Amino acid sequence: MVDLKNDVKYIKGVGPNRVQSLNKLGIFTLEDLITYYPRDYEDRSVPKKIMYCEDDEDVLIKAIVVSRMSEIRIRKNMVMYKLTVRDDTGVCNITWYNQPYLKKQFVYGEEYSFFGRVHKKGNKLEMNSPVFDSKNLNKNTGKIVPIYPSTYGLPQNTLRRIIENGLEITNNTLEEYFPEYILNNYHLLHINESIQKIHMPESFEDFKLARRRLVFEELLVMQLALLNLKSSWKKEQKGIQYDKSIKISNVINDLPFKLTKAQLKVLDEIDNDMESEKCMNRLLQGDVGSGKTVVAIISAYKAVKSGYQAAIMAPTSILATQHLESFSNMLDKYGIRCELLISSVTKKKKEEILEKLQNGEIDILIGTHAILEENVIFKNLGLVVTDEQHRFGVRQRSKIVAKGANPDVLVMTATPIPRTLALILYGDLDISIIDELPPNRKQIETYAVTKSMENRVNNFVRKQISEGRQAYIVCPLVEENEEINAKSVLEIYEKYKTEVFSDLVVEYMHGKMKPKEKDEIMEKFKNGEIDILISTTVIEVGVNVPNSSIMIVENAERFGLAQLHQLRGRVGRGEYQSYCILKYNSNSDVARKRMKIMTSTTDGFIIAEKDLELRGSGEFFGTKQHGLPEFKIANLFEDMDILKEVQGLTMKIENQDPKLQLEENSGLKKLVDEKFSGRIEM
Ligand code: ADP
Ligand code: MG
Repeated sequence: MVDLKNDVKYIKGVGPNRVQSLNKLGIFTLEDLITYYPRDYEDRSVPKKIMYCEDDEDVLIKAIVVSRMSEIRIRKNMVMYKLTVRDDTGVCNITWYNQPYLKKQFVYGEEYSFFGRVHKKGNKLEMNSPVFDSKNLNKNTGKIVPIYPSTYGLPQNTLRRIIENGLEITNNTLEEYFPEYILNNYHLLHINESIQKIHMPESFEDFKLARRRLVFEELLVMQLALLNLKSSWKKEQKGIQYDKSIKISNVINDLPFKLTKAQLKVLDEIDNDMESEKCMNRLLQGDVGSGKTVVAIISAYKAVKSGYQAAIMAPTSILATQHLESFSNMLDKYGIRCELLISSVTKKKKEEILEKLQNGEIDILIGTHAILEENVIFKNLGLVVTDEQHRFGVRQRSKIVAKGANPDVLVMTATPIPRTLALILYGDLDISIIDELPPNRKQIETYAVTKSMENRVNNFVRKQISEGRQAYIVCPLVEENEEINAKSVLEIYEKYKTEVFSDLVVEYMHGKMKPKEKDEIMEKFKNGEIDILISTTVIEVGVNVPNSSIMIVENAERFGLAQLHQLRGRVGRGEYQSYCILKYNSNSDVARKRMKIMTSTTDGFIIAEKDLELRGSGEFFGTKQHGLPEFKIANLFEDMDILKEVQGLTMKIENQDPKLQLEENSGLKKLVDEKFSGRIEM
């Protein structure tokens, strides 16, 4: 049997340069190569008559050569080859450049197939650099040809040939991991046939069947792996039963604001979970600004007052620092001791924290990934809260949970996903939703603008700042990059600091800076010492500065809608009318549509759904955002039906053979072990 882990360099047609290009595509092994799936197909199987060809169309024509090949030197190093062909409806002139071998390819009066892009000028048809076959040959034409997502400098043809060579090696030798009963019950193609046909379908029907099998496999592996992880942390043991006499209403009545109905409802659900003997595993979804933090604070109060410790995990130091402030503000007065553990904490301070944590002198530990380290030991961890869950993998979540004895878990996310999807992705979690924003929030006004509006935008920023407000400017890049045409933090910073806003305090921040530097900048911004903060999306999650009223996004076309929504959520958090200005630089229809969505709604759920719709198949809506691996072929939006079938099957397996120990499921077990733990970080 062929070893799928073989390096691609051993494949025919792959030299050192091509290895590099392939590596850039994420293709290192034979397996990577044959699972590099096409993003689209070109149908070169149906010929068209010359008369009916349209301008700018990719077509297949079958025509007879009616001229000699002429050779025209256009300039130094550039020779054009010209051939005239005809069918019974018209004439077509074909041109190639710098391909002298073509001179001997064609026989006058013979028929050939040509596939290429045609241009129509009046009655004249021209075709440029087509691929061709002589009569009755189907090497380059006469079939459906795959188009690969990206080729990194490899021509499609070359990549296609390399993949064909890879397929030749593996031809019919792939091991079938699916048991017979699954293949039969769900009408799935064999793995060998599927891989062959996904690359080289003979018909659209072929493609559909092959894709179905591969999608099914990908989704099933994900579901089984999740099942595996879930059962490893969701043990049969009972959870903690918190003290019923600790009333969360004590804190609620002391708050400086009235909780919304939605917040109260969610708190009630959490309170019930905590008081019951079952282990809480709850997902809290709420749009940006809906007030999730206070819910976490009140839950932590309950845990601490019942004699337990709580851990709050945030994805960035900025956010963790901010949480510490919010937690301390509300909980200090109850004698609850909060501490911060992030990577920038000094060694000495860290030792002190670790000791106090183990002694139980710290009640709530708030921090970043730093909390996950081995030496962080709790005395009595009872509640784990992860904020902005999409930044953490499922595995990280279970790692923190393992630091306690069946602690309750609250997972908070501002990434809206449709409920059906949430049920599938977070099958084991109960779901609470805060579907209401605190009152008196002003709607954020959103504008999408092009370059011509630049001065007006700048004047507007100046005016807001003169009224005491602050502004964020977000750029896609940290530094200028020759390959990517987009604004960078450092470039804009230079320009604004020295020219446009030289009289204001302009600062910048990005993910490559040290955590300590970032924290300092953020602190200054919070204190109002900075007027304009230029940054990358590091400020995307959770940062709360109520005085900032403007969010400007440079090259907004480069961000996903869900991401733009998150960014926009950084403003409008105080009493001031706030604005989001999306500067975009693209003529594409999709870009315009995306901007339109952003300007017409502020509902995160609608935006998430539109985002799904607008992204083509192949690209995939944020499983990554939810801590799941990215799919190669499945698309949760389009493949909802298959997902449902897979879920049904997973449930059956969960009942009958949750650990995949039965002989008939041994292939599935291999698949999960191999595809999941081996390659994908979860
Ligand atoms: P998110 O859900 O995005 O994490 P936060 O918890 O950061 O939102 O809350 C955003 C802001 O709203 C905070 O300043 C918080 O104090 C405030 N807030 C939360 N709940 C309410 C409420 N019921 N009424 C008024 N303000 C609230
Ligand atoms: Mg938050």
